Amino acid sequence: MASSPRHSTHPTSPSSSVATAPTLLRLNYPDFCAFAPLRPTTRAHSRAPALLPDPEEQQDAGACRVGHGPSPSAAALRVGIVGFGNFGQFIAGGIQRQGHAVLATSRSDYSGYCACRGIRFFATAEALCEAGPDVLLICSSILSTEAVVRAIPFHALRPDTLIADVLSVKQFPRNLLLEILPPRFGIVCTHPMFGPESGKHGWSGLPFVYDKVRVAQEGDQAVKCEQFLSIFEREGCRMVEMSCEEHDRYAAGSQFITHTIGRILSQLNLKSTPINTKGYETLLQLTENTISDSFDLYYGLFMYNVNATEQIDNLDRAFDKVKQMLYGRLHNVLRKQIVERVPIP
Ligand code: NAP
Repeated sequence: MASSPRHSTHPTSPSSSVATAPTLLRLNYPDFCAFAPLRPTTRAHSRAPALLPDPEEQQDAGACRVGHGPSPSAAALRVGIVGFGNFGQFIAGGIQRQGHAVLATSRSDYSGYCACRGIRFFATAEALCEAGPDVLLICSSILSTEAVVRAIPFHALRPDTLIADVLSVKQFPRNLLLEILPPRFGIVCTHPMFGPESGKHGWSGLPFVYDKVRVAQEGDQAVKCEQFLSIFEREGCRMVEMSCEEHDRYAAGSQFITHTIGRILSQLNLKSTPINTKGYETLLQLTENTISDSFDLYYGLFMYNVNATEQIDNLDRAFDKVKQMLYGRLHNVLRKQIVERVPIP
């Protein structure tokens, strides 16, 4: 797929032909609104009781520091975010930049934050579902996701809703969603491989992993899925289609190791010095980035990735090996002097 920024690692994916659609469309129609005629014309939010007034209609932005996002276009998706913490808020920005509407719900009350940003906040998942989002995006912590997903009243959603997640592990949410969701719902598991720190200057070139776990080849589901993925493609992400198993294998050896090293370094309480090398600056940065994520997130990377234990063991062995190389060399010199009476040069 040389001409597409999406990169697939499973060539046999049944949906690979669908994956190229936005790129082809973009080549021919610079405006992605080309999908507009394909989209369902009935919008469920007209039947939905919102718990809070629609911020698009709210005039009083006096207390807000940040302006509204762009108004959603006719072809805009309505993305309902479940779990509106650090990452949920961060990803909402990109969704809005691409002209889509964001709805949100969370354990905590983010209504004030949302009101300033043109986001509808719902106090319960049920109210959010009744508002009829096109895509329901799970952004809860890895540890809480099972309870959060089990509490979603799926019967209140439109039957063509696409369910997506952004968890930093992938086999767990895929299996959970397949187990819990009624078969009519499409499922796409994703992992934006960046966050509020690494993506603060834009998402261009940053990897976005996705697996279309269950998306009907034709009809609204396929269109919604492409529209949803196009958000990240149009933000400049490097799109990588990959199975959830493969993701977890790679992520344990890269992301989990990175977080673990960052966590270990944070225990050393490293400080900046007047003679920092470039390498040391990198370590300080790594430490800062790592601890800006919650410990729940890090524990989730460990507990919910079957490959993580092996990586911890590898790390342990590698550290022992390095110590052996250091101390072993000195021991050999000393032994030669003490036992073999080799004189000190
Ligand atoms: P997190 O600590 O992993 O998750 C915080 C979110 O989980 C908040 O929305 C929080 O809700 C919710 N939550 C936590 N415990 C809960 C509970 N017992 N019941 C209900 N909700 C609960 O931090 P995060 O950085 O925001 O990550 C969110 C998701 O994005 C995770 O699955 C993570 O793997 C994924 N992700 C994160 C990054 C990143 O760089 N941070 C990058 C890619 C993917 P309240 O805020 O309402 O309390």
